[in-house]
Amino acid sequence: MGEYKRPVTEEDFEKNFKLKKPLMNATEVYYESSRCLYCYDAPCIQACPTGIDIPLFIKQLQTKNTEGAAKTIYDSNWLGNACGTVCPTGVLCEGACVYNHQDVPPLQIGRLQNYATTQVISKEKQLYTPGDDNGKKIAIIGAGPAGIACACELRVLGYQVTVYEAKEKPSGLTVYGIAPYKITNEEVLEEINYLQNQLGFVVKYNSPITKKEQLELLERSYDAIFLGVGLGKTSVLGLPGEDKKNVIGAVEFIEELRMKHHLLKVPNKVIVIGGGNTAMDAASEAARMGADEVILAYRRSKEEKGAYTFEYDLALSAGVKGMFNIAPVEITGEESATGVKFSKTHVVNGKLEEIEESEFVISCDLVIKATGQAKQKSFFDLIPDLEIDAKSRIIVKEDTNQTSNPKYFAGGDAINGGAEVVNGAYDGKLAAKGIHQWLTK
Ligand SMILES: Cc1cc2nc3c(=O)[nH]c(=O)nc-3n(C[C@H](O)[C@H](O)[C@H](O)COP(=O)(O)OP(=O)(O)OC[C@H]3O[C@@H](n4cnc5c(N)ncnc54)[C@H](O)[C@@H]3O)c2cc1C
Ligand code: SF4
Repeated sequence: MGEYKRPVTEEDFEKNFKLKKPLMNATEVYYESSRCLYCYDAPCIQACPTGIDIPLFIKQLQTKNTEGAAKTIYDSNWLGNACGTVCPTGVLCEGACVYNHQDVPPLQIGRLQNYATTQVISKEKQLYTPGDDNGKKIAIIGAGPAGIACACELRVLGYQVTVYEAKEKPSGLTVYGIAPYKITNEEVLEEINYLQNQLGFVVKYNSPITKKEQLELLERSYDAIFLGVGLGKTSVLGLPGEDKKNVIGAVEFIEELRMKHHLLKVPNKVIVIGGGNTAMDAASEAARMGADEVILAYRRSKEEKGAYTFEYDLALSAGVKGMFNIAPVEITGEESATGVKFSKTHVVNGKLEEIEESEFVISCDLVIKATGQAKQKSFFDLIPDLEIDAKSRIIVKEDTNQTSNPKYFAGGDAINGGAEVVNGAYDGKLAAKGIHQWLTK
């Protein structure tokens, strides 16, 4: 039996996916903020990709200026609330806190950040107004963190902004991908509503831009275009049997889980293939959905896995079993998958090799492939003169995020190949400034 009971109601689901970083209360905030040493060189600011003035917002919280603290956060990062909960703070701001050198727990920056932002969101405090209309119009493709951050910054600069989003909800992978024990759908959407109510950018949902003619129309109708399209579906592995029923990509599995909650039925025995953060999330989530056994299978060693250690530990604590140095060679079964055939692996002269005659089969009812997301190359090919690199990431100028086609700017996973929400938030803001600089030159 797994650690978790199968959720049959929304209440059960919430119990199994209880938030890892619950909201602090005012007393906790007072105590935690009083621990800040206000370091002269503030390594936490350097470690935050959006460069939030952390000591300043903590001082503002300490003096009960919660609105000021939220403004300090949003001035640097339009997804301030989402980032407070979903950022891997242990390797970013909190990882840089000087307390780590003294064997003292670092300041809980993410949770303090969340306190400030949820206060203004719940009270609908108006912190921003759109800039005076400058008569120029910008189209944004993709309402993920990068697109939303770009939209907010452009509105402050006085641009009219229309965001074209393929799906029916904003926020990209923050709502469709990130584990529900990090952030709830409601929390994500409340922040977007809060920003939209103040800044008035338009989002056209269920509006994928997929054809050359659509792009040409946007080029004629708008002064610049921002590409915040992220990545595509889970990559194909090229394994025999991959097209069987009960074989699903991790991103697609997680999206279904985030949308259906307890209504999603996860079978008893699950194999997750992969060693990155998405594999850890998918395994952890399958276990929390009440699967009896969840095996995480990675072809390299435990030390070589791409996932953060805290994400692996989280999966283990949910009852997931890690198996290393095993590579999938075939998905077995007739119409539906009944197992995965693996080969043991070892490293010879620095190269990973399968060990001859070491094959074995592990039976299962569901295979989740967490082997990375495909890039949006076929979409990028529709845009004239758009340069991409060998890994199909859009190439941009570092200081403006302008692409090789001057009318197009880009940011987020589409340029970094898959990072964090905070990187998308940074890119969107930078690109908006880049657009402004280009159009006012
Ligand atoms: C399983 C998983 C877990 C993750 N967990 C974390 C985490 O815990 N913490 C963290 O910080 N980050 C996490 N990430 C990464 C984070 O979600 C991404 O880095 C971030 O969302 C990237 O933002 P983006 O705006 O570039 O792209 P996305 O979030 O992918 O948004 C792109 C948007 O563009 C839309 N779109 C795409 N193509 C088109 C088109 N042609 N026309 C119109 N719309 C289009 C999509 O529907 C989507 O809404 C996770 C990612 C995954 C896959
Ligand atoms: S945005 Fe993320 S990295 Fe930056 S201070 Fe907030 S929690 Fe830390």
